[in-house]
Amino acid sequence: KFITLEGGEGVGKSTNLRFITQWLDEQGISYIQTREPGGTPLAEQLRSLLLEKRDERVDPTAELLMVFAARAQHLNQVIKPALAQGKWVVCDRFTDATYAYQGGGRGLDWALIAQLEQTVQGDLRPDSVLLLDVDPEIGLQRAASTGAADRFESEQMDFFRKVRAAYRKRAEGNPECYQLIDASVPLEEVQQSLAAALQQIAGG
Ligand code: C5P
Repeated sequence: KFITLEGGEGVGKSTNLRFITQWLDEQGISYIQTREPGGTPLAEQLRSLLLEKRDERVDPTAELLMVFAARAQHLNQVIKPALAQGKWVVCDRFTDATYAYQGGGRGLDWALIAQLEQTVQGDLRPDSVLLLDVDPEIGLQRAASTGAADRFESEQMDFFRKVRAAYRKRAEGNPECYQLIDASVPLEEVQQSLAAALQQIAGG
Protein backbone atom coordinates (compact mmCIF):
# COMPACT_ATOMS: atom_id res chain seq x y z
CA LYS A 1 0.00 0.00 0.00
CA PHE A 2 1.06 3.53 -0.76
CA ILE A 3 -0.21 5.99 1.82
CA THR A 4 0.52 9.67 2.11
CA LEU A 5 0.09 12.09 4.99
CA GLU A 6 -0.93 15.60 4.07
CA GLY A 7 -1.96 18.84 5.71
CA GLY A 8 -1.15 22.53 6.05
CA GLU A 9 1.11 24.14 8.62
CA GLY A 10 0.67 23.23 12.29
CA VAL A 11 -1.70 20.30 11.73
CA GLY A 12 0.53 17.96 13.74
CA LYS A 13 1.96 16.04 10.80
CA SER A 14 5.21 14.98 12.52
CA THR A 15 3.53 13.72 15.69
CA ASN A 16 0.92 11.82 13.73
CA LEU A 17 3.52 10.38 11.40
CA ARG A 18 5.20 8.83 14.43
CA PHE A 19 1.84 7.44 15.48
CA ILE A 20 1.34 5.86 12.05
CA THR A 21 4.74 4.17 11.96
CA GLN A 22 4.25 2.94 15.52
CA TRP A 23 0.91 1.44 14.48
CA LEU A 24 2.55 -0.30 11.52
CA ASP A 25 5.33 -1.63 13.78
CA GLU A 26 2.74 -3.01 16.17
CA GLN A 27 0.93 -4.76 13.31
CA GLY A 28 4.20 -6.21 12.02
CA ILE A 29 3.66 -4.56 8.63
CA SER A 30 6.80 -4.05 6.58
CA TYR A 31 7.10 -0.45 5.38
CA ILE A 32 9.41 2.38 4.48
CA GLN A 33 8.92 5.94 5.68
CA THR A 34 9.90 8.74 3.35
CA ARG A 35 9.03 12.33 2.53
CA GLU A 36 8.53 14.91 -0.18
CA PRO A 37 10.01 17.02 -1.42
CA GLY A 38 12.97 14.74 -0.76
CA GLY A 39 13.56 11.07 -0.09
CA THR A 40 16.78 10.65 -2.11
CA PRO A 41 20.03 12.64 -1.88
CA LEU A 42 19.26 14.55 -5.08
CA ALA A 43 15.63 15.16 -4.14
CA GLU A 44 16.71 16.34 -0.67
CA GLN A 45 19.06 18.81 -2.36
CA LEU A 46 16.15 20.10 -4.40
CA ARG A 47 14.14 20.39 -1.17
CA SER A 48 16.88 22.48 0.43
CA LEU A 49 16.97 24.72 -2.61
CA LEU A 50 13.20 25.15 -2.45
CA LEU A 51 13.07 25.92 1.26
CA GLU A 52 16.13 28.10 1.68
CA LYS A 53 15.57 31.81 2.17
CA ARG A 54 16.73 33.96 -0.72
CA ASP A 55 16.22 37.46 -2.03
CA GLU A 56 15.11 36.24 -5.43
CA ARG A 57 11.44 35.34 -5.65
CA VAL A 58 11.00 31.78 -6.86
CA ASP A 59 8.94 31.67 -10.01
CA PRO A 60 5.90 29.45 -9.30
CA THR A 61 6.40 27.39 -12.47
CA ALA A 62 10.07 26.88 -11.57
CA GLU A 63 8.96 25.75 -8.12
CA LEU A 64 6.44 23.36 -9.67
CA LEU A 65 9.05 21.80 -11.94
CA MET A 66 11.52 21.42 -9.07
CA VAL A 67 8.92 19.65 -6.97
CA PHE A 68 8.17 17.26 -9.84
CA ALA A 69 11.87 16.79 -10.62
CA ALA A 70 12.38 15.69 -7.02
CA ARG A 71 9.30 13.47 -7.30
CA ALA A 72 10.49 11.70 -10.47
CA GLN A 73 13.75 10.84 -8.75
CA HIS A 74 12.10 9.76 -5.51
CA LEU A 75 9.41 7.72 -7.21
CA ASN A 76 11.78 5.74 -9.38
CA GLN A 77 14.61 5.31 -6.88
CA VAL A 78 12.63 4.68 -3.71
CA ILE A 79 8.85 4.41 -3.88
CA LYS A 80 8.37 2.03 -6.81
CA PRO A 81 11.10 -0.41 -5.69
CA ALA A 82 9.60 -0.57 -2.18
CA LEU A 83 6.10 -1.19 -3.52
CA ALA A 84 7.50 -3.86 -5.84
CA GLN A 85 8.90 -5.62 -2.77
CA GLY A 86 5.44 -5.61 -1.21
CA LYS A 87 6.28 -3.00 1.39
CA TRP A 88 3.98 -0.24 2.48
CA VAL A 89 5.22 3.23 1.64
CA VAL A 90 4.38 5.95 4.12
CA CYS A 91 5.14 9.28 2.50
CA ASP A 92 5.09 12.61 4.33
CA ARG A 93 3.48 14.75 1.60
CA PHE A 94 3.14 13.83 -2.06
CA THR A 95 1.34 15.21 -5.11
CA ASP A 96 -1.63 16.51 -3.14
CA ALA A 97 0.83 18.97 -1.58
CA THR A 98 1.59 20.19 -5.10
CA TYR A 99 -2.10 20.76 -5.79
CA ALA A 100 -2.37 22.54 -2.44
CA TYR A 101 0.83 24.63 -2.32
CA GLN A 102 1.74 25.26 -5.96
CA GLY A 103 -1.89 25.10 -7.11
CA GLY A 104 -3.95 26.60 -4.27
CA GLY A 105 -1.19 28.66 -2.66
CA ARG A 106 0.75 29.90 -5.68
CA GLY A 107 -2.23 29.94 -8.02
CA LEU A 108 -1.01 27.50 -10.69
CA ASP A 109 -3.58 25.77 -12.83
CA TRP A 110 -4.58 22.31 -11.59
CA ALA A 111 -4.74 21.09 -15.21
CA LEU A 112 -1.02 21.82 -15.60
CA ILE A 113 -0.28 19.94 -12.38
CA ALA A 114 -2.40 17.02 -13.58
CA GLN A 115 -0.38 16.88 -16.81
CA LEU A 116 2.92 16.69 -14.93
CA GLU A 117 1.41 14.16 -12.53
CA GLN A 118 0.55 11.91 -15.46
CA THR A 119 3.95 12.38 -17.07
CA VAL A 120 5.94 11.68 -13.92
CA GLN A 121 3.74 9.11 -12.24
CA GLY A 122 1.87 7.41 -15.05
CA ASP A 123 -1.09 5.82 -13.32
CA LEU A 124 0.58 5.56 -9.93
CA ARG A 125 -1.46 7.29 -7.22
CA PRO A 126 -1.53 6.82 -3.45
CA ASP A 127 -3.92 4.10 -2.29
CA SER A 128 -4.97 6.40 0.48
CA VAL A 129 -4.34 10.01 1.41
CA LEU A 130 -4.62 10.86 5.09
CA LEU A 131 -5.43 14.55 5.19
CA LEU A 132 -5.08 16.36 8.52
CA ASP A 133 -7.33 19.37 8.37
CA VAL A 134 -7.34 22.38 10.66
CA ASP A 135 -8.05 26.09 10.39
CA PRO A 136 -4.64 27.74 9.76
CA GLU A 137 -5.27 30.24 12.60
CA ILE A 138 -5.27 27.29 15.01
CA GLY A 139 -2.34 25.69 13.19
CA LEU A 140 -0.35 28.91 13.55
CA GLN A 141 -1.04 29.10 17.30
CA ARG A 142 0.07 25.49 17.70
CA ALA A 143 3.22 25.94 15.65
CA ALA A 144 4.04 29.07 17.68
CA SER A 145 3.66 27.17 20.94
CA THR A 146 6.10 24.48 19.79
CA GLY A 147 8.58 27.01 18.40
CA ALA A 148 8.02 25.83 14.82
CA ALA A 149 6.47 29.05 13.56
CA ASP A 150 9.50 30.71 12.00
CA ARG A 151 8.43 30.06 8.46
CA PHE A 152 5.07 31.68 9.08
CA GLU A 153 6.73 35.07 9.32
CA SER A 154 7.45 35.30 5.63
CA GLU A 155 4.14 33.99 4.44
CA GLN A 156 0.63 35.26 4.69
CA MET A 157 -2.33 33.71 6.43
CA ASP A 158 -4.16 34.14 3.14
CA PHE A 159 -1.70 31.72 1.52
CA PHE A 160 -2.40 29.08 4.17
CA ARG A 161 -6.14 29.52 3.76
CA LYS A 162 -5.77 28.83 0.05
CA VAL A 163 -3.61 25.78 0.76
CA ARG A 164 -6.23 24.40 3.12
CA ALA A 165 -9.08 25.06 0.70
CA ALA A 166 -7.21 23.27 -2.10
CA TYR A 167 -6.51 20.24 0.08
CA ARG A 168 -10.17 20.04 1.05
CA LYS A 169 -11.24 20.35 -2.56
CA ARG A 170 -8.95 17.44 -3.48
CA ALA A 171 -10.49 15.32 -0.74
CA GLU A 172 -14.04 16.23 -1.68
CA GLY A 173 -13.40 15.39 -5.34
CA ASN A 174 -12.35 11.82 -4.56
CA PRO A 175 -13.78 10.75 -1.19
CA GLU A 176 -12.99 7.03 -1.55
CA CYS A 177 -9.24 7.69 -1.70
CA TYR A 178 -9.08 10.41 1.00
CA GLN A 179 -9.52 10.34 4.73
CA LEU A 180 -10.31 13.90 5.78
CA ILE A 181 -9.32 13.98 9.44
CA ASP A 182 -10.37 16.84 11.69
CA ALA A 183 -7.12 17.82 13.42
CA SER A 184 -8.69 20.52 15.62
CA VAL A 185 -9.86 17.93 18.15
CA PRO A 186 -7.59 16.54 20.92
CA LEU A 187 -4.65 14.48 19.68
CA GLU A 188 -6.06 11.28 21.13
CA GLU A 189 -9.16 11.60 18.96
CA VAL A 190 -7.10 12.40 15.86
CA GLN A 191 -5.13 9.24 16.47
CA GLN A 192 -8.29 7.17 16.93
CA SER A 193 -9.39 8.37 13.49
CA LEU A 194 -5.98 7.54 12.05
CA ALA A 195 -6.00 4.05 13.55
CA ALA A 196 -9.47 3.41 12.11
CA ALA A 197 -8.33 4.62 8.69
CA LEU A 198 -5.21 2.44 8.81
CA GLN A 199 -7.24 -0.59 9.86
CA GLN A 200 -9.50 -0.05 6.87
CA ILE A 201 -6.55 0.34 4.48
CA ALA A 202 -4.86 -2.79 5.84
CA GLY A 203 -8.06 -4.78 5.53
CA GLY A 204 -9.03 -3.58 2.07
O1 C5P B 1 6.32 18.74 5.24
P1 C5P B 1 6.97 19.99 5.72
O2 C5P B 1 6.01 20.86 6.49
O3 C5P B 1 8.26 19.77 6.42
O4 C5P B 1 7.30 20.79 4.38
C1 C5P B 1 8.10 21.92 4.41
C2 C5P B 1 7.54 23.02 3.56
O5 C5P B 1 7.68 22.73 2.17
C3 C5P B 1 6.09 23.32 3.73
O6 C5P B 1 5.88 24.15 4.80
C4 C5P B 1 5.74 24.01 2.45
O7 C5P B 1 5.91 25.39 2.62
C5 C5P B 1 6.77 23.51 1.47
N1 C5P B 1 6.21 22.72 0.38
C6 C5P B 1 5.81 23.35 -0.77
N2 C5P B 1 5.32 22.63 -1.81
C7 C5P B 1 5.20 21.29 -1.73
C8 C5P B 1 5.57 20.63 -0.56
C9 C5P B 1 6.09 21.37 0.49
O8 C5P B 1 5.89 24.57 -0.86
N3 C5P B 1 4.71 20.62 -2.76
